[in-house]
Amino acid sequence: MTAERWGILRVPEDEDTETKTYFSPDRIPNMTTEDESDESGRRSGLESTPETTVEPVSSAAADGTTDRSATASAETVSDPSDAFQALGNETRMGILDTMLERTDETETGVTFSELFEASTVDTSAGFAYHLEQLVGPYLAKDGDEHYELTYAGRKIARAIATGAYTRRVDHPPISLAESCPFCGEQSLAAQATDNVVAVACENCDRSLLRLGFPPSGLESHGESFPDAFDRHHRHRLGLMAEGVCPECSGEISSELVRTAPSTDDALPSEFEEHVQAAFDCEVCGTEVRCPVSLAFLDRPEVVSLYHDHGRNVRDRPIWNVGHEWTETILSEEPLAVRVVVELEGDVLALYVDERLDVVDVQRSETNASTSEGAADAAA
Ligand SMILES: [Zn+2]
Ligand SMILES: [Zn+2]
Repeated sequence: MTAERWGILRVPEDEDTETKTYFSPDRIPNMTTEDESDESGRRSGLESTPETTVEPVSSAAADGTTDRSATASAETVSDPSDAFQALGNETRMGILDTMLERTDETETGVTFSELFEASTVDTSAGFAYHLEQLVGPYLAKDGDEHYELTYAGRKIARAIATGAYTRRVDHPPISLAESCPFCGEQSLAAQATDNVVAVACENCDRSLLRLGFPPSGLESHGESFPDAFDRHHRHRLGLMAEGVCPECSGEISSELVRTAPSTDDALPSEFEEHVQAAFDCEVCGTEVRCPVSLAFLDRPEVVSLYHDHGRNVRDRPIWNVGHEWTETILSEEPLAVRVVVELEGDVLALYVDERLDVVDVQRSETNASTSEGAADAAA
């Protein structure tokens, strides 16, 4: 009843054995607000509630009663100013906070008396007034006076819990193990200022990246926040490379672009002629520019190349994926790039068109030696 959990995929092993349950442990982080997959991941597959079972599509379609329209329907149910006005009150914010805490503990919703007891309001009549202001957009109420968070209620309550709107986190520089891709010195540091993490080189003064990171991420990971920051953003890039906005799930448009002049200024001359991957969401306005190579870290060909050499591509952080990556511009109009990864003479080439589609993949071994690769990775 309380929404959001992974369905349990029932996969019969053969005709008459018992069913086996699977669930996905994948957690895909989100940059600025909440992490829904984390929540539902925690609740995953351990409960075998029949109504959450995901049935094969064919059986649902075959029963003939399911009305499947080709397009989603949508309507605006509130002005943003009205929706947020309902939140401008300490008691109501407290209710959402209590709901977020209790929702995990109940299958039937939270009762009026539970919410009232958790509040600091003196009279139940006064409390009822505030509660009613949330019903509709943020809370759903059933006939038995049980309350549940709506989708919007969960979104806003979690966003507030992350501290995105209320907390500012600064963190002094932390030295990173990887060397600077520009000057080669081991002098990179990550620093957080007002919930934005910057990775820069203290030797050549170049800034490698600046990206937002939720206050909750900075606070809960402490000194190891750079690792969490790397995971967070590589998954975001992976989502965008697959056409899905990590903020709003809207459609992402991808293209190769020339670097902005300000970026060019900061780069050494050998990087003057280079292009970047650009991801744009037309729905929420999220825009990200990054090295083209970063768009392909999740490609099966890339993952298996590393695996074949006893390595894991995920061990390389996004601020320096390694000198084995090179990008060459093949065409100016339209833009096209060849991204090459080379490990111990084993060469993987991805041919990328202007829409960031990989149009060809070639792998060739020049003098590959797997045992050498494994020894190198272990060193
Ligand atoms: Zn440097
Ligand atoms: Zn978006």
